[in-house]
Amino acid sequence: MYNIAVIGGGCMGLASALEIQKLLKNNVQVTIFAEKFTPDTTSDIAAGLWEPYLLGETEPENLIRWGKGTYDYLTQLWQEENGGKTVQRRIEHFNELSNYDVIVNCTGLASRDLLNDLDVTPIRGQIRRVKAPWQYSSFLIDHKNEGSCYIIANTHSVVLGGTKQKSFDTTLSDADSDRFLNHLNRFIPSLKDAEVVKNVVGLRPYRSKVRLEEEFLKTPDGKTLKVVHNYGHGGSGLSLSVGCGQHAAELVVKMLRVDKNKL
Ligand SMILES: Cc1cc2nc3c(=O)[nH]c(=O)nc-3n(C[C@H](O)[C@H](O)[C@H](O)COP(=O)(O)OP(=O)(O)OC[C@H]3O[C@@H](n4cnc5c(N)ncnc54)[C@H](O)[C@@H]3O)c2cc1C
Repeated sequence: MYNIAVIGGGCMGLASALEIQKLLKNNVQVTIFAEKFTPDTTSDIAAGLWEPYLLGETEPENLIRWGKGTYDYLTQLWQEENGGKTVQRRIEHFNELSNYDVIVNCTGLASRDLLNDLDVTPIRGQIRRVKAPWQYSSFLIDHKNEGSCYIIANTHSVVLGGTKQKSFDTTLSDADSDRFLNHLNRFIPSLKDAEVVKNVVGLRPYRSKVRLEEEFLKTPDGKTLKVVHNYGHGGSGLSLSVGCGQHAAELVVKMLRVDKNKL
């Protein structure tokens, strides 16, 4: 039985844990360690942008069929019991988990401090969620003078946003919301009176390049730690989570030198 520790309870940690379980089946015990779980992660703040894009003349009925397939898969995943363990705990150093066969690092922005990886940079995003059940369409608007803003229709609310500033500041700014709301209200006036669900700020874990790779680290007592890193997904973590989780799981199997044909 392999023991795998996943650090991180956001979309990357959850997807990685699940894909490791799927690959290693009954041969693995996966434990997720996270300081925060839903609804307190950056992944909970994500606007939910996920769309068919640049698909030429592909038939709309196929786009609906295939998109619905992905949507249904994710919905089912969310409702399933998948085993595994969760532990709410802050990890100060990977050495604390030296009794695990592989550690999977999905700590997002916190990898900056945990690994002293200064390439991981917060890109601040402020959004407002409103109740606007009449709003089915989503818009991404890039205005040359007023910057970018968007309307993203989710199932139970509509996201109005947003900002993308290099900053650690998680306090709400009226100036920021005024900028994108004024712009959006001109575009779709009915949103002006929509009931506010919440205003929220999150920090996107930007990195010049997503880090999805294995690393061997040494503990002070000379033990080798096998680590798979999966962080730095910027403004696309939700969109990439399942694929990155699958990739991370492949790396775990590689580090364990497991023959997949014998599983
Ligand atoms: C306003 C906004 C809008 C966005 N919109 C979209 C969108 O429309 N589509 C999209 O694809 N993406 C979007 N994103 C980006 C997306 O939210 C992120 O890319 C994604 O959430 C990153 O996921 P993650 O699992 O790596 O990190 P997180 O969700 O931040 O999870 C990190 C986890 O690691 C844990 N952790 C960290 N350090 C430690 C430690 N030392 N010990 C234990 N646990 C630790 C945390 O507690 C947490 O559980 C948006 C982001 C923002 C802010």
